[in-house]
Amino acid sequence: MKAVDDYAFDGNAIGGLLIELFGTEMTTATGTCGSCGAVSQVAELAVYRPASSAPSCAAVRVTPC
Ligand SMILES: [Zn+2]
Repeated sequence: MKAVDDYAFDGNAIGGLLIELFGTEMTTATGTCGSCGAVSQVAELAVYRPASSAPSCAAVRVTPC
């Protein structure tokens, strides 16, 4: 896990939580940003609390309910 900036970490910060939710390693799963179309692994996401965003455009792409 590394800091992306003063307010965010990379997606590895939520790796343990995702294993609890999905029962398997999810940081290598890929997704496509609905805003810019960038394809990246969960580990590459910028994770903010309470949301995460694409590493290339900062559009929020994963949020809790
Ligand atoms: Zn994007």
